[in-house]
Amino acid sequence: MTYVFEPPSQPSVAIAGSDARFPVRRIFCVGRNYAEHVREMGNDPNEQPIFFTKPADAVVESGTAIPYPANTSDWHHEVELVIAIGKAGANIDAAAALDHVWGYGVGVDLTLRDRQAEAKKGGKPWDVAKAGDFSAPISALTPVSASGHPSAARIWLSVNGETRQDANTEQMIWKTPAIIASLSRVWTLQPGDLVYTGSPAGVSALQRGDAIACGVDGLSELRFSVLQ
Ligand code: MN
Repeated sequence: MTYVFEPPSQPSVAIAGSDARFPVRRIFCVGRNYAEHVREMGNDPNEQPIFFTKPADAVVESGTAIPYPANTSDWHHEVELVIAIGKAGANIDAAAALDHVWGYGVGVDLTLRDRQAEAKKGGKPWDVAKAGDFSAPISALTPVSASGHPSAARIWLSVNGETRQDANTEQMIWKTPAIIASLSRVWTLQPGDLVYTGSPAGVSALQRGDAIACGVDGLSELRFSVLQ
């Protein structure tokens, strides 16, 4: 018997204003990085943010219609600034961390809130709640040479034209340099890595047929919809 292994194609993301693509290596995520969102989830904003991951295959590009997951009835949007890493490094000093940034995008950390609540209660991993297929919509990426570092930029998300999240990246507890310094003490960062930097308050449930738009000032917008 012959087993034929067909590896998936390399996940990649569009680059704004270019025909080139950004190959995705890994997806890291920061949790509990905006105090008001930490409080809305019933957690203590004085505790340190946390990390979790999604598979690279979870990326969904702007303009896509995605299915409502089968294993939830409480599927939440979390709009987040995304860092795209362009230079490898381990144990990076915060003072040098911005040298490792290739660019930025806006992403949504789609979350099965009911499955996450069960995992938290049972002390179990978050993978089912956070890392399923289609769980990482992302805009076209903008190189930092064009965007600068969006350290004090409006971040927002609307559903069917109604604003649900509206905040500013300056409210992040860990800013981009601190995130890169902390992540790189666990994982040697590599070009192609994406980092979802945490969501501000206003997370809420999506329904079949919803149209989602979101953005960070100075970056390309992300739009996607939920299939009926
Ligand atoms: Mn998140």
